[in-house]
Amino acid sequence: MKKKKKLTINREWCKGCGICVAFCPKGVLVLDKEGKACWAHPEKCKNCGLCELRCPDIAMELV
Ligand code: SF4
Ligand code: SF4
Repeated sequence: MKKKKKLTINREWCKGCGICVAFCPKGVLVLDKEGKACWAHPEKCKNCGLCELRCPDIAMELV
């Protein structure tokens, strides 16, 4: 069975563009009060990697 990955978000690098929020097909991500991406619904994450791929600031990593 494929092991589920965990998303790490580097808040220092996130500029809050919202691209990852818009591209996530499962609605997992939101921008928090500080305007930084946040893994709000990790249980819905399908490990598709789109957020990691689309982030222009390489702030996201699936590990
Ligand atoms: S890996 Fe896919 S499903 Fe999970 S948070 Fe990123 S875009 Fe959403
Ligand atoms: S795409 Fe990257 S920089 Fe933009 S909100 Fe998401 S984590 Fe932050």
